[in-house]
Amino acid sequence: MFRVHCNKCFRHRKTDPAVPFHLTQCRHVICGPCLGQSSLEKNCPLCGQVLKAIQINRDMPTSVANYFADPLRFQQIYRKISKFQADQRASDNLGFYRQLQQLEQNKRQLEGFCKMEAQLNQKVVEEKKRIAELRTYIAYHENAQRMTRRRHSAGERFHTPEFKEAWNTSISTSDKSPSDMPSDSSRRSADLDTQSTRRRSFGSDTKGFRL
Ligand SMILES: [Zn+2]
Ligand SMILES: [Zn+2]
Repeated sequence: MFRVHCNKCFRHRKTDPAVPFHLTQCRHVICGPCLGQSSLEKNCPLCGQVLKAIQINRDMPTSVANYFADPLRFQQIYRKISKFQADQRASDNLGFYRQLQQLEQNKRQLEGFCKMEAQLNQKVVEEKKRIAELRTYIAYHENAQRMTRRRHSAGERFHTPEFKEAWNTSISTSDKSPSDMPSDSSRRSADLDTQSTRRRSFGSDTKGFRL
């Protein structure tokens, strides 16, 4: 601390407790009598700046009272404030570092998901191809089954008495040869008949042949 005194006439506050002392905005301490003389000029008697002063007493605002407090107190406050703010910055940096780590982790996870998506898409393409092949396979077999069923039902129709009667009637009316029957055995018998006829005619030609 320091001893409060007038910066103009150097009287001490302690020795003249009845005299009011003032702090100016230009940070000069001036006693009441010296200020009374200067207030007419409205300028600081020491530096000449525009005069604005407040009386030094217990009712001073804190911002003014701080000028009369022990600076060590402010040093301690400064240290506390400085440590508090340093801790806050460290915490903020830690948060930033954690966010960065999380970001890297999310990035790796996203890359994994992208790879998985590509694999699944590839699998979908392969499965679609397989389904198309199976559909073709099923369609082929269904068609084959349908054809077989149709052939069977047609065969059954040929062997019904109605079909045989209708066929015989058509033979007698249209004079069809037996080889027109939709039967392999009848066709074969017709061929044999032709061959035997040929053989017979050949035999008749060589009947009187002599060497
Ligand atoms: Zn003075
Ligand atoms: Zn001044």
